[in-house]
Amino acid sequence: MSRLIVVSNRVAVPSRKGGATAGGLAVALNDVLAHRGGLWFGWSGRIGERQQTASLVPQGNVTYAVCDLSQDDHQEYYNGFANRALWPLLHYRLDLTEFARKDLAGYRSVNSYFADLLVEHVAPDDLIWIHDYHLIPLAEALRERGVNNRIGYFQHIPWPSLDIFLALPNHAEIGRALTACDLVGFQTRKDADNFGSYLVEEAGAFASGKRLFAVGGRALRTGVYPVGIDRLGFARTAARAARSRFIQEVGESLGGRTMMIGVDRLDYSKGLTQRLDAFERMLQTAPDWRTHVTFLQITPKSRADIPEYAAMQRALGEAAGRINGQYGEVSWTPIRYINRSYNRNELAGLYRLARVGVVTPLRDGMNLVAKEYVASQDPDDPGVLVISRFAGAASVLDGALIVNPYDIDGTAAAYVKALMMPLEERRARWRRMWQGLANTDIGGWADRFLSDLEEVDRDRPYRG
Ligand code: UDP
Repeated sequence: MSRLIVVSNRVAVPSRKGGATAGGLAVALNDVLAHRGGLWFGWSGRIGERQQTASLVPQGNVTYAVCDLSQDDHQEYYNGFANRALWPLLHYRLDLTEFARKDLAGYRSVNSYFADLLVEHVAPDDLIWIHDYHLIPLAEALRERGVNNRIGYFQHIPWPSLDIFLALPNHAEIGRALTACDLVGFQTRKDADNFGSYLVEEAGAFASGKRLFAVGGRALRTGVYPVGIDRLGFARTAARAARSRFIQEVGESLGGRTMMIGVDRLDYSKGLTQRLDAFERMLQTAPDWRTHVTFLQITPKSRADIPEYAAMQRALGEAAGRINGQYGEVSWTPIRYINRSYNRNELAGLYRLARVGVVTPLRDGMNLVAKEYVASQDPDDPGVLVISRFAGAASVLDGALIVNPYDIDGTAAAYVKALMMPLEERRARWRRMWQGLANTDIGGWADRFLSDLEEVDRDRPYRG
């Protein structure tokens, strides 16, 4: 079996205590790396001087290879092109897309810097797996340095429809860069179809099958690999957490009220203001629920250096304050809005405590919170998931109440329906979703991608 090289913007070096520092995805990638032996390359998370060589941290079978970024790199590559141009554009938010040539230059330059350091560690048989939109040009930069290995790329976030993508001034460069890969993976069929249309209509690709292309004299395969979670692990954690002191205390603090929950990074893609507006609409139109329901919204801050995020934070704080001011009573606060993060154990317990899980992004690649909410439920008395049709997870969770997050009245009605849903229906819907999770378990996700990458027939692009 060939050695694996994983490349991502940030590298999750496990903490000294042995536990992984990051979430399910990082754990899954660590597992595959440990199994095959491998290297994980990327940014250390530190800002300082650029390095001549990567710093190596060997741990068992896995070597973490990290490098620092300069202040300008961080500003132009990360805050700039990746998060002010690509992130909004790929989430269909042209109104928020800020394109600056200086940022693009920084983005290219960091990808070249990564390629320069990484190329020193690539052996002929290694499989290279690049992750996400920060590193779209990396495969091409590696090819320019003579790397002929199999290279796969996975897009964790959406790939938008053709017209949206064409609004990127340098779309040709970004689109072409991915054709240096052997396999490009997406979360949903729609994302893969959108990318395929782009290849054929704009990048001169010839489609010899739905997911097989000949472009620039090379074969390129695309595929759909929805990211999953460790559903059994989550279920166990949630059952244990339900008995913890923390969860008992939260339960007592509710005073017999029903809890709804939302858990999202503070991000405009998550539809947070619309979600709270829909809750307000429910309190207006279904006054019987006043004082009987508490909405817990956990929203850790993210990307605070970017102005759109700071604006979002103000808007959301104001919305929560306004609703609490208007509808609250001395003994009841409708919305508990919290800007800190919680660990996996705490979240699993909170998900299980909540009768309704609310996941209403305007656009989301997958959304793992939706899957975690489902996995955490008590099978005998499960809660109801309300999910946006624009979250990738909606395609595998058909037992959920699926809403259009722009439709405030419709979402408010779904909240009421979820709160009132009879036990039998809750159980039946939950069973379907639990089953849906089995098909996309996290370890299987990585294995499927890597085995497809190994099987790409590089010499015969036209076989279909
Ligand atoms: N998460 C966490 N603590 C928090 C909030 C979120 O550990 O306080 C985790 C959550 O359990 C999930 C991940 O962060 O695994 C968020 O992933 P998702 O796909 O839902 O959204 P993203 O933030 O990647 O856009």
